[in-house]
Amino acid sequence: MGALAAIALSSCNPQEEMHTETDHSDFQWQVDRFADIKVLRYQIPSWDDLTPQQRIYAYHLTQAGLAGRDIMWDCNYRHNLEIRRALEAIISSESVDKESAAYADFEVYAKRVFFANGIHHHYSNMKFAADFDQDWFLQTLSDLGIELSEEAQRAIFDPSFDAKKVNRADGVDLLLASAVNFYAPDITQAEAEEFYAAKEDADPARPVSHGLNSRLSRDENGEIYEEVFSARGRYASSIKEIMGHLAKAQAVAENEDQAKALGLLIEYYESGDLTKWDDYNIAWVSTTGGDVDYINGFVEVYNDPMGYRGSYETIVQVKDFDASARMAVVADNVQWFEDNSPIMDEHKKESVVGVSYKIVTVAGEAGDASPSTPIGVNLPNANWIRVEHGSKSVSLGNIEDAYHASAGKGMAEEFGFSTMHNERAEKYGELGSKMHTALHEVVGHASGKINPGVGTPKETLKNYSSTLEEARADLVALYFILDDKMQEIGLMENKEAGYAEYDNYISNGMMLQLRRILPGDDIEEDHMRNRQLVASWAFERGQEENVIERKVIDGKTYFVVNDYDKLRGYFGELLREIQRIKSEGDFEAGRMLVETYGVKVDQELHAEVLRRSEPLNLAPYSGFVNPEMEPVMEGDSIIDVKVTYPMDFLGQMLRYAKNYSFE
Ligand SMILES: [Zn+2]
Repeated sequence: MGALAAIALSSCNPQEEMHTETDHSDFQWQVDRFADIKVLRYQIPSWDDLTPQQRIYAYHLTQAGLAGRDIMWDCNYRHNLEIRRALEAIISSESVDKESAAYADFEVYAKRVFFANGIHHHYSNMKFAADFDQDWFLQTLSDLGIELSEEAQRAIFDPSFDAKKVNRADGVDLLLASAVNFYAPDITQAEAEEFYAAKEDADPARPVSHGLNSRLSRDENGEIYEEVFSARGRYASSIKEIMGHLAKAQAVAENEDQAKALGLLIEYYESGDLTKWDDYNIAWVSTTGGDVDYINGFVEVYNDPMGYRGSYETIVQVKDFDASARMAVVADNVQWFEDNSPIMDEHKKESVVGVSYKIVTVAGEAGDASPSTPIGVNLPNANWIRVEHGSKSVSLGNIEDAYHASAGKGMAEEFGFSTMHNERAEKYGELGSKMHTALHEVVGHASGKINPGVGTPKETLKNYSSTLEEARADLVALYFILDDKMQEIGLMENKEAGYAEYDNYISNGMMLQLRRILPGDDIEEDHMRNRQLVASWAFERGQEENVIERKVIDGKTYFVVNDYDKLRGYFGELLREIQRIKSEGDFEAGRMLVETYGVKVDQELHAEVLRRSEPLNLAPYSGFVNPEMEPVMEGDSIIDVKVTYPMDFLGQMLRYAKNYSFE
């Protein structure tokens, strides 16, 4: 069997919150609002349905996640931990005047840094402007007896210094232009490419994920080497904490499969051996029996401009039985979707192996997944494991619910073209977006295969591989959401949810998402590039026949879909081409698509979006405080775990700092 598709890059960011919905409970979703961020809470409605042992299991898994929090900060940027400790000291000091204007400005900066796990924006990767009084800040630190290194000060206050965490711009040296701490600051892209070109695999059909758990550093002789993240290497103190919690989880696992998988994960953390990581993933992917599951490790590679290194993350999940049963039909039909996909026959998988799809309730997140979180995750990332052993795909149901419940109607009303569109969005928008997520994760990322002899997308498509992979998965979802099959298998009563999703996708990709970036900036983030690529390519493709119409009414621009069937056909065409690019490893064609359609911004339209959304005062980005778990003790043993839902974002950040600082 040849190498198949659906490599890496599988956690998908939330869509714009255009939809509204109907949670009438009086749970307060939003707990903070600053800069371009709102902080929400989520509930774990199924917590009480678990047994005490399951709750204790989830508790230890959650603690393991939090124990690795510092790793994420340090990987993001080499001065992050030092800066964070300075911020924490000021915020928690009782001698600092918290009523002053200087403090208020400083606090906004601090919250932004906490939200991003560092001094660069979590989404745009740009360094935060230090919009607060530098003299006040340095004086306050000095009063508190805290020294901040010259370089850390420069990192905060010099806008041109390490300005961007991840820079994938066309033509730059990806490593020298990126501040992320996965590589020593002076290592060049060419050096890293050479380093990995020399790596050989014992079994070329089953390559290990080179570089996934290490920093590329330079020794005193100038030689490049990997500083491996393990109990014997870099981040040893955090990793030992993680292992301790995983061992406790292992002791209360729901079944033997879970215990076995956790044992392999612990071995992997001990040695850092990437073949152990593969062994673990094979065990993990076949562990589908329990009610509680988790993601833990150095997983997604979005933060590495070269796509090798995984960011530390955990997500602890409780199965949502009813919702999972409803959606099981998607995974059951995954081979039908593959057989009926518009991609070329030679790029189709003969048999799509073991895709498990569940709707889950998140119980806790950490590292790369917190405070900003994905809404769906599809793992493992190693292609050959997916082919031979299958994959697990989850939608984070309570996170999606929190997004929908907290989104006002403002955006929909301002940008929806007509009452009909708005009513449809209100009635069917949520269903449409959930179907999109399911199809994207289960069918999209699992579809297609790479031609024999062609390298992995990371090698062939380089800095465009993430954008193109997300585009491919979105296009699969968009194509099938209007297929009659969706009604046949009982997922949709009619096509209204599909139409609502098309309206939403086009208006988001053509304009709405632009409110997330600053005037004059290009689009950088992979998911955003993907959405604009798909929407604007389809807009141009259908221009002659007016398939998507650009209408301007009273100075307001709308993109209105006139012919859904034709648009679906275009999505199929583009899917076929992007699958070809991936299957053949056609870098030049991939680069052209992304650079032509996904990067440059229509400046006038951008200004209009900012102007129209400003009065709505809606934050373009959301994230979450986590529920907090408190063990119920009997003597020295934990007999149960209680959950509370905190209301204070900054408070949670300080509690985390106090309890989980290991670097
Ligand atoms: Zn995705």
